[in-house]
Amino acid sequence: MQFQGKIMQKQIKVFHVPFSRRGSTEELLKEAASRIKGSDYSKILCLSPTPWKIRESQKIFHKLTENTYIPPGMMTIKQLSKKLYSLHGNKTPISGSVIPIIISQLSGKGIGFSSVISSFIDEIKQYRPGKDIESIHKELKSVFEELNVPEEGSKRAMDATEIFRKYQEALAAQNLIDENDVMAECPAIIREHNYSPAILILDGFYEVTPSEERILKSMVEQTETTLISMPYDNNFTLITNSFDDFIKNNFNIETTTSGSETALPLPSSEKRLSYVSYPGIDEEVEGIARHIKNLFISGRCRSLGKIIVAFPKLHTYHDIVQRVFKRYGIPCTFSASKPLGKTEPYLALTALLESIADDYPRLPFSRFLTSPHFEKMPALFREWIPQISLYSGIIKGKNSWLGLSKTLSNVKSLALRDILPETEKEFKWIFKKLKPLESLKDRGTFKQISEALHKLLSDLDFSRPEDADAKEQVSGFLKELALIDNLLQIPPRPPLLKGGWGDLSYSLREFIDSLRYILNTSEKEAEGEGVQVSGFFELRCTEPEYLYLGGLKDGDLPSMPEIDLLLPDNVKTKLGLVNMKRYLHLQQFIFRRLTAALPSKNLHLSYAAMEADRLFLPSPFLPWKAEATEKTPGILCREEEMLRHPEIPLASHIKEIGIKSRLIKKQFGENSKIRVTDIDAYRTCHRKFFIEKILRLEPSETKEYEIEAMLLGTIIHEIMAELMAKSRSYRDFNEMKAAAEKLLGKLLDEKPLENYWKNFIRDSFLSILPEIYEIESELRDEGYSFIKAEAPVEGEVIKNIKLKGKIDRIDKKTDSEVELIDYKTGTAQLSRTEIVNKGASLQLFLYAALMKSLGFKVNRAGIYSVKDTKITWVPGKKDSNTMDDYIESCLKYLEKTVSDLRKGDFTAFPLNEQTCRNCHERAYCPYMQTTSNAIK
Ligand code: SF4
Repeated sequence: MQFQGKIMQKQIKVFHVPFSRRGSTEELLKEAASRIKGSDYSKILCLSPTPWKIRESQKIFHKLTENTYIPPGMMTIKQLSKKLYSLHGNKTPISGSVIPIIISQLSGKGIGFSSVISSFIDEIKQYRPGKDIESIHKELKSVFEELNVPEEGSKRAMDATEIFRKYQEALAAQNLIDENDVMAECPAIIREHNYSPAILILDGFYEVTPSEERILKSMVEQTETTLISMPYDNNFTLITNSFDDFIKNNFNIETTTSGSETALPLPSSEKRLSYVSYPGIDEEVEGIARHIKNLFISGRCRSLGKIIVAFPKLHTYHDIVQRVFKRYGIPCTFSASKPLGKTEPYLALTALLESIADDYPRLPFSRFLTSPHFEKMPALFREWIPQISLYSGIIKGKNSWLGLSKTLSNVKSLALRDILPETEKEFKWIFKKLKPLESLKDRGTFKQISEALHKLLSDLDFSRPEDADAKEQVSGFLKELALIDNLLQIPPRPPLLKGGWGDLSYSLREFIDSLRYILNTSEKEAEGEGVQVSGFFELRCTEPEYLYLGGLKDGDLPSMPEIDLLLPDNVKTKLGLVNMKRYLHLQQFIFRRLTAALPSKNLHLSYAAMEADRLFLPSPFLPWKAEATEKTPGILCREEEMLRHPEIPLASHIKEIGIKSRLIKKQFGENSKIRVTDIDAYRTCHRKFFIEKILRLEPSETKEYEIEAMLLGTIIHEIMAELMAKSRSYRDFNEMKAAAEKLLGKLLDEKPLENYWKNFIRDSFLSILPEIYEIESELRDEGYSFIKAEAPVEGEVIKNIKLKGKIDRIDKKTDSEVELIDYKTGTAQLSRTEIVNKGASLQLFLYAALMKSLGFKVNRAGIYSVKDTKITWVPGKKDSNTMDDYIESCLKYLEKTVSDLRKGDFTAFPLNEQTCRNCHERAYCPYMQTTSNAIK
């Protein structure tokens, strides 16, 4: 591309760039640079339609220059107008994302409908710049009437213009200005301040609104030399005509045609496109990743920054791309498509606000406490909150967090128990910091809440050095939210204010909703290394070198515009706004331009044919029957390598536990007293016993909102022990009930439980008290009376085997004849055959053996199920075995069990296979690895 002659007068050159022509931006920049002496290119201003295109132009320009240089100005029209207004304007600009919140507060409508009205105002301001609301109202009314739109439809639009009026008045009264009005003021600023770059480049424009046209017009008028490039294709004149006409009608231009000396090459004959169909989204992204990796490894493209991957619906693909590309070791940067509200620092920020508004629920509060984005947050929280959150069973409540040392007093982890006092101190510190914001929870103005939050964020040092932007951004958002109060002070007062005329207060919840809206509509401009991943529309007017265009399924490309609730399509057409036909056509325009400019080897088109059980067709933009097969051979990621060359299978790491007998001598040797309960636990499964009782390992599980079984057991044992200790003195049920109520009050008061659980236990126990009374009466009738609860016993029942334990309850018939009772909160499981044949549930009979060794005759032993209010006795009434028979067979089992234990036998073998069903060791257990043993 060559320019003829020296510039002596105003020169405006327009280049119609055919779709297949690449490198027009480079040519324009080169030409403009050649006209500048020295290396100060700041006299060049390059305007482009999108931030993406600007980044592309910056890279291109950088490649053109060799030495150090002052770069040209490169920006979008909006950025230019904002810049000029910040220098010469006198009102305070507000961002687009705060507008729906202002509208919502002014109109009393929800934020959803307010954002519809905000889009309506935006469209009107872009397409009718500088027009007063009265004439817009009239124009709309006549169009609605002309098109016979039912009143219901037109009324919505008319109401919206009324809100538009209020909105403008509110802004004017507070000397505020929105982005559209900034653009409307821009032409006057350009003229007044004689803003004139030496060379103006308008690169890649084709869809320009009247508001933008006014700015471009004044810029071109002020500038000596203007170079304009616009994409062109005979099939898409519908799209390009309006910009073309604008240039032609307003300026004296030199056009370059394909026949002239400066012409760009003609488009090559239309290429035959092909595409790959994948069975699903995962496979599609995987296919793209493999293709890119192969491209890189083969050396065909060593600069990943040149590769662009785009999808019409980026949000569907975002996380999958992130995951799969990471697996293939492909660095990638996403375009500004992720709303700020979904990024880490802001998720932590909203978690903080949600926590205060909802009384510190476990998950959001834990997220806030462990977030790395609050530098001054005690490090202890980051380390311990995950465990505390798992084990505490907290649902929500400030007091629950402050009472952790009570709630977790029984937790097994000693390290966690040790840290609790310090944790409690830090909790007091953080709650003190949160107090000012908490005091505004139910009533506070946006200004008060914004200020309190701002102070809190600076106290906690929100954000990290690598996210320095977040700190600035958030104070910008808070300043804008604080403005809302001022806007609402303008009469007439909006009707939604709760407390009448003087009341401007909101709940923290409303503040969160507003802030969240702002965060979800603001995007973070991402710049980074590697493959660039973007949405489809962001690629308009760009010139990628390698393009992977995925997700090209019918319905997604072209996609339908969102239904406009205020302006029906025929009204839009009449008003010259972007209507459905134009929207669809625009997508086709972008697609054709992108695909025509790339050689087939640099273009990869694809779609996923299925999602779950739904089948899809390829986009109608793709040619019929042009499906290509694709196979990217090779081992391209670590997982594949591991699958192809398995090293050591997991099963080979799973082994039986072997422990030297001397290591367990201290705990279970001849001189130690073994707990009776350990005998049953060891017999249940040796391996499980070793893991849970010797190593004391427990799986990390989120505690349910329930009373811990151990604690419940302790409470019931204590109640029963104390209540039954006086059972002889109760003359009737009422006396027992009165004693039980008193006792429950005293015992439960001391327990670290929420009132809900205390009441639950009290009510449940009192409801079964009549049945307990029945049982006690029966025992009395049989001649038994209570003598001791929680009775410690120990002794040497077999030579060199010393046992110890605590019997829940002993009743006597005579001074030497007793019965033993074990309380259980669950159902009683005492099977006589299991005891004799398998040695299950030895506990009670070992106690009986111990009592026997102390000179007592144990008549029977029973499990007292508090749940079923029933005692199961052994021996039973018709039992052919006596207690001595049971003791004898249990002692045989005891001897063998202790001998195995002392040998260090921890073989995985369950006494009852049901145990394996709920065993945490299941996945790593050699017993389960043997398929014949595995429980199906
Ligand atoms: S899965 Fe069964 S055999 Fe294995 S450790 Fe657990 S209970 Fe024992």
